[in-house]
Amino acid sequence: MRSNPHGYIMTCTLAPGGGIRRHVISQSNVFLFLKNDRFQVKLESKCPGATIIPVILSSDKTQVTLFRDKSAYPLYLTIGNIPKEVRRQPSQHAYILLGYLPTTKLEHITNKAAWRRTIGNLFHACVSRIIHPIKVTGLTGAPMMSGDGAIRRVHPLLALYIGDYPEQILVAGVKKGDCPTCPATKDELDSDEGHDYRDMDAVLEALDLADGPDVAVFVRECKRLGIKPLATPFWRDLPYVHIFRSISPDVLHQLFQGVIKYIILWIKQAYTPAEIDARCRRLPPNHHIRLFMKGITSLSRLSGHEHNQICRILLGLIVDLRLPDNQSPVRLIQAVRAVLDALYLSQYPLHSDETLEVFEDAINRFDDNKQIFIDLGIRFHFNINKFHYLRRHYINAIKLYGTTDNYNTEYTERLHIDLVKDAYRSTNRKDEYPQMTLWLERKEKIFRHETFLRWKFAGAPSPATWHPPQITERRHLQMTRYPSRKRVPLTELAMQYGAKLIREALVAYFIQLDNPGHLTRRQIELAAESWHLPFQSVAVYHKIKFWNQDSQGFSGKTQTLDAVHVKPSYKNKRGQIVPGRFDTVLIKVKNDADGVNGIHYPRCLIINAHILPGLRVAQVRAVFSIPKLATASRLHRGTSVPTHLAYIELFSPFPPQPDRHHGMYRIKRCFDHGQRSVAIVPVTEIERSAHLFPIFGPVAPREWSASTVLEQCLTFYVNLWSDRHAYITIR
Ligand SMILES: [Zn+2]
Repeated sequence: MRSNPHGYIMTCTLAPGGGIRRHVISQSNVFLFLKNDRFQVKLESKCPGATIIPVILSSDKTQVTLFRDKSAYPLYLTIGNIPKEVRRQPSQHAYILLGYLPTTKLEHITNKAAWRRTIGNLFHACVSRIIHPIKVTGLTGAPMMSGDGAIRRVHPLLALYIGDYPEQILVAGVKKGDCPTCPATKDELDSDEGHDYRDMDAVLEALDLADGPDVAVFVRECKRLGIKPLATPFWRDLPYVHIFRSISPDVLHQLFQGVIKYIILWIKQAYTPAEIDARCRRLPPNHHIRLFMKGITSLSRLSGHEHNQICRILLGLIVDLRLPDNQSPVRLIQAVRAVLDALYLSQYPLHSDETLEVFEDAINRFDDNKQIFIDLGIRFHFNINKFHYLRRHYINAIKLYGTTDNYNTEYTERLHIDLVKDAYRSTNRKDEYPQMTLWLERKEKIFRHETFLRWKFAGAPSPATWHPPQITERRHLQMTRYPSRKRVPLTELAMQYGAKLIREALVAYFIQLDNPGHLTRRQIELAAESWHLPFQSVAVYHKIKFWNQDSQGFSGKTQTLDAVHVKPSYKNKRGQIVPGRFDTVLIKVKNDADGVNGIHYPRCLIINAHILPGLRVAQVRAVFSIPKLATASRLHRGTSVPTHLAYIELFSPFPPQPDRHHGMYRIKRCFDHGQRSVAIVPVTEIERSAHLFPIFGPVAPREWSASTVLEQCLTFYVNLWSDRHAYITIR
């Protein structure tokens, strides 16, 4: 057991009255934080002026970290007052290791029931001992200095317990197969009946019977309530605790490794695996998309990350596939679409009443359509705890504890490396636990002192004002300082890059740039007759990158959020030809007289979201900048040419409505007098990359490939699953 450092509070922003409270933006409730309300109300009536520290515990038994032949079972702690952007960065040390729980297998106990009972009691006894200090402090409070220098009376109260399913049932003390949160047993998981939570008061009363004269009464009462007859669960004496409500959803294990894993399995059973794999190999490349060149049906033991990758292409693989016996695939498509919606919405970094309504609608749509899996003979029932948890408990949990990125098991899994493996390496491998804890304690002290010094040397600034996170990262486009190729003749752009109409397009662009009013097509054609390009080559860029604008300074670094590749084929060092890649993008368009019609930002679901005027898909053939002085003599004084331009081939505007069943927009290439419609646009008009699903028809043409499909296929659906930004922009 180790000391609990208070240093982190320095980085927290505290609302007046103490604690980070619910923020209300616009007219809607926005759910970002662990809300203190339910504790606050109870505490305020007894001892006014309390500041709540929502304690978040996390343990991970199934992912025990192995060092040599030894394993460790760490218990972590963090607090809800720390903004989640800080909490999820290991470098900020927002999680601390509270202690290592015993990993003994208790092999000397041969009776299975007795063994299970002992394991449970051992776990609860250990956790109970470790968190003992908060039992008293939670009730009486303790003075602690907060980021603004004020001394507050803080009450640490257990708010959440993060863990995967085996951990959840161990903590809640319920039987395997049952729901740890509500009274649903394993045969009732698909039912809509029942309460949202187990009855905490009744459970506590039943546990009191353990000290009574008749043990049989205690066991019977526990059985009736569906909990195990635990001697002393660690939460029994914690103030204001409701352990069943504190079990957090777990996106990684419940959704990616649960719901999505099932859906992929059922899809493999519904359709011909060979055809699904054939489609996987024929999707165009994109920054966000992993191309499964061997298909997905033969893969086994997939990680959460791989399931995430498959979700991005799943609907595109099955959208026009036929079911056996000519059954209608509509319900299956709608069920898959609903699950994907629920998956994406469950991971929003902020929610409002409206987005939670959309989330609920997605869950209901799945319920309305899931019967198809039974009709196809793939399933007999849906009593699956992962589906149950999503349907019954996610929305309530978000309302109570904020968005799911507040309680993500992925973060703690990452901690194993720092807090377990590195710590072990520092020991002499003999009686390692005391050495490991001492090593970690020293490291934490050094970190705290270092943070303090940095703050002091910076002139002791007051805590930064906290801004609510954006629904997606702010992105900004930045071109490299030097081009990929300095001088590429226009003829080469036409031949190698496929920018066939580069000269005509440039002339038309310059004429329009020089005459900002609206010119008719005929006027442009006339003017073009006497216009000659004053240059024959341009500097070419093979990549456009979008970076993360770290406006809040939490991560302290930038990352590539998106990239667009515009590169012709070339020979690599081994003499093999690497195919060219000309990515598709979304470009911003205005509603102009030609009826260029982009999609409009759909029902403004997200407050603060950037509202786009209109978007259209295009394929980029070349990105270039023209010699600065070359055009000066040809253009009016004061007309400036954007630094970076792109030659694009246009696709048809988004139709007014997406498909009614799968909700994707269908588009095709645009032609003008038998030639592809092209345009020159400033690179700044490119909003982001866009991934397209080719419409394959019942059988994907085998002559198509990932590198040629954009040329060979004529119609596409716009992929809205490639990343969250795409989902929010296109849905
Ligand atoms: Zn439940």
